[in-house]
Amino acid sequence: MYLPDFEYYAPESVAEACQLLSQFGEKAKVLAGGTDLVVKMKNELLAPEVVVSVKNLEQLKKVEYVAGKGVRVGALCTHNDLVKSDVLKDKFASVANAAKQMANNQVRNRGTIAGNIVSAVPSADLPPILIALNATAKLVGAKGERTLAMEDVFTGPGKTVLANDEVLTEIFIPEQKMTGSNYIKFGLRKSGALAVVGVAVAVQVENGVIKDARVALGAVAATPVRAKKTEEFLKGKKVTDDVLAEAGVLASGECKPISDIRASAEYRTDLVRIFTKRALRKAVDEGHV
Ligand SMILES: Cc1cc2nc3c(=O)[nH]c(=O)nc-3n(C[C@H](O)[C@H](O)[C@H](O)COP(=O)(O)OP(=O)(O)OC[C@H]3O[C@@H](n4cnc5c(N)ncnc54)[C@H](O)[C@@H]3O)c2cc1C
Repeated sequence: MYLPDFEYYAPESVAEACQLLSQFGEKAKVLAGGTDLVVKMKNELLAPEVVVSVKNLEQLKKVEYVAGKGVRVGALCTHNDLVKSDVLKDKFASVANAAKQMANNQVRNRGTIAGNIVSAVPSADLPPILIALNATAKLVGAKGERTLAMEDVFTGPGKTVLANDEVLTEIFIPEQKMTGSNYIKFGLRKSGALAVVGVAVAVQVENGVIKDARVALGAVAATPVRAKKTEEFLKGKKVTDDVLAEAGVLASGECKPISDIRASAEYRTDLVRIFTKRALRKAVDEGHV
């Protein structure tokens, strides 16, 4: 369980980090909280020759409200930063609540939102709620920057669109008309368990009618996925138990889970049915995003 040898850099700016990543290409890996990377290195699943720590980039550790536009979350915010953020609790409590459901206190103190996204583990807890809230990811590279919809970041298990020289610097959650949102997960233990299934929803309900809906599913496909047929079905419907139950059935038809040591594909599919209905009911009843 010893770490292999590697060269270590701790740049003081994003530009310097990108330059180092560009210089070392595939030999280098970004290090944020290390709760995923260091575990993989110790287990000999990864052996980067160069580790570029971004932990000194203080400017990436803030959660800020941008008046009239939304909330900017620095990529190096830890899960506990999200849990404790007054801005998130006020504007997007569902994100703080999703972070609260993750791991244990030690991991939440170190693990970052960027690491949770870029590690691209299908069961990761933050991507579904960020997708449901239409969040974007800002990627900065040696040659410039780009902003992508969160759902477009993932290409497969452990794979994203990030180029070798790119650093995820910020997540932006736009101000929206949604009236309710939340993320619920099913894990095999009450704490510290990865999601067997995670369901995130955001709804805009006016006078008992669903005007808009976004549903994102985690741990039931190679990447987090939007349940677009379910979203379309919900639009214009009156909120009733039958409608929410039918949405659950539709969502269960939109996932492609695998069977593994934590659950069978059939069990996961049925959990999606139940959890989609529950998440929608919670979002409608609690009435906060
Ligand atoms: C005991 C335990 C329990 C866990 N429980 C959960 C859980 O319940 N839910 C859950 O979702 N996850 C869980 N995890 C997984 C992990 O903690 C999280 O995914 C965490 O958010 C990873 O963040 P990090 O900062 O530690 O990433 P790191 O380990 O530092 O990096 C992970 C990957 O992302 C890349 N990376 C990191 N930051 C950037 C950046 N800014 N730009 C570009 N690339 C970057 C790294 O190069 C690496 O490939 C758990 C892990 C452990 C060890």
